[in-house]
Amino acid sequence: MSTHLFQYKPYNYSYEYDYVFAGAGAATMSLLVRMILSGQFKESTFLVVDKDQKQNNDRTWCFWEKEAGLFEKLVHKSWDQLWFHGPGFSKKYPIKPYRYKMIRGIDFYNFCLDFLKQQSNVQLLFEPVERIEPMSNGARLLLKNKETYYAKKYLFNSIPFEKPVSGPGKHTLLQHFKGWLIETENDFFDPAVCTLMDFRINQAHGTSFVYTMPLTARSALVEYTLFTESLLNEQDYEEELKTYIRDYLRLNQYLVKEREFGIIPMTNQVFSEGEGAIVNIGTAGGQTKPSSGYTFQFIQRHSDAILYSMLQHGHPRPSLRSHEGRFFFYDSVLLDVLVHKELGGAEIFTRLFKRNSAKRVFRFLDNSSYLPEELLLIGSLPVGPFLRAARRQLFPSSAASYPTGATHPLEK
Ligand SMILES: Cc1cc2nc3c(=O)[nH]c(=O)nc-3n(C[C@H](O)[C@H](O)[C@H](O)COP(=O)(O)OP(=O)(O)OC[C@H]3O[C@@H](n4cnc5c(N)ncnc54)[C@H](O)[C@@H]3O)c2cc1C
Repeated sequence: MSTHLFQYKPYNYSYEYDYVFAGAGAATMSLLVRMILSGQFKESTFLVVDKDQKQNNDRTWCFWEKEAGLFEKLVHKSWDQLWFHGPGFSKKYPIKPYRYKMIRGIDFYNFCLDFLKQQSNVQLLFEPVERIEPMSNGARLLLKNKETYYAKKYLFNSIPFEKPVSGPGKHTLLQHFKGWLIETENDFFDPAVCTLMDFRINQAHGTSFVYTMPLTARSALVEYTLFTESLLNEQDYEEELKTYIRDYLRLNQYLVKEREFGIIPMTNQVFSEGEGAIVNIGTAGGQTKPSSGYTFQFIQRHSDAILYSMLQHGHPRPSLRSHEGRFFFYDSVLLDVLVHKELGGAEIFTRLFKRNSAKRVFRFLDNSSYLPEELLLIGSLPVGPFLRAARRQLFPSSAASYPTGATHPLEK
């Protein structure tokens, strides 16, 4: 029996639960906290398994939102104005009614774990999972240490066990980023405005930009981000960050207090929803936006939809909203343009921001715009490269060869 299982609740041990959650990251927490708060699962039992105790600030989530979200009190900082900079173009945008929000991973994990520890029907287990399997009744989860746990109703999985399905017209780019939390001795930043994207930087490595999130007048998270097929050397990220801080922020004296590195695969390959009683959620369930890498808000929406479906229809598989196919197509076309290097991200995003309000771009990237404004957004972009990409996406087998971009990390 696992040594970690009884860490919090020694009395309620079992190998069988109504619901098992594989992984204890953003997707599990977002869904499980909602299920508990609904008050409809008081008689159910839950097991949450993760290999990691979630004690590190391993990521910072940024996203935009109009209203207060479920995790509002965890918002570390938010902004209602932002800068966009592109080659030869800079503009400050008001974004009300949106706010651009930041949640620190560690605050999210601490809050959710504390909340779960207070629930007598939830067990937490910190062990590596080897695999999960659907069964004729329910599903099972096998640990690396050979213990097996059973989900009588559903097993919600956020561990990326399965490769997404590839094929002609399917592309992957890596969104990779290195961020520094920097501090200055004197007031330097304007904490009321963040920089969403600054594309003025060197584009020699491919689509690259920096975002700057000032937390106070003396501290900011500065993050160098690329959408490319391969990673850089450690020192290249650091050099680009140093150059940006010196040449664009015009800051010479600062201390690096924290570092963040991350890779988010951006792909139009198709993720499995899960088989039988297994329901894939989060990145493993295809909740990462293929053209931007934003995931956090899509996870929130997916969690709402799963809960609604369970309460209304008795199963956790919400049907696709009718417009989602349209946005998947837009994402695929944009990825296709980038992978074929028809146009760089700097030009694409600069044109979008130059000719549209930030709010309209947000709605588009959020999959919540309407067709007429999508036509305006599409009209901001050069026709040729996007038409050719759209044709390749609509008739993938007609093209002679397919650069598929990066290898998805799961394919290695
Ligand atoms: C550094 C970083 C920054 C990001 N920033 C943003 C952002 O600003 N905005 C945004 O919208 N999205 C962002 N994302 C993308 C996305 O929101 C996050 O990756 C998000 O955490 C995805 O949630 P998830 O639950 O699917 O996966 P995770 O949160 O990664 O949860 C999966 C869990 O599974 C566990 N696990 C994995 N393998 C095993 C195993 N074999 N056994 C047991 N446990 C296992 C992991 O320890 C992890 O806790 C970021 C991603 C990264 C990596």
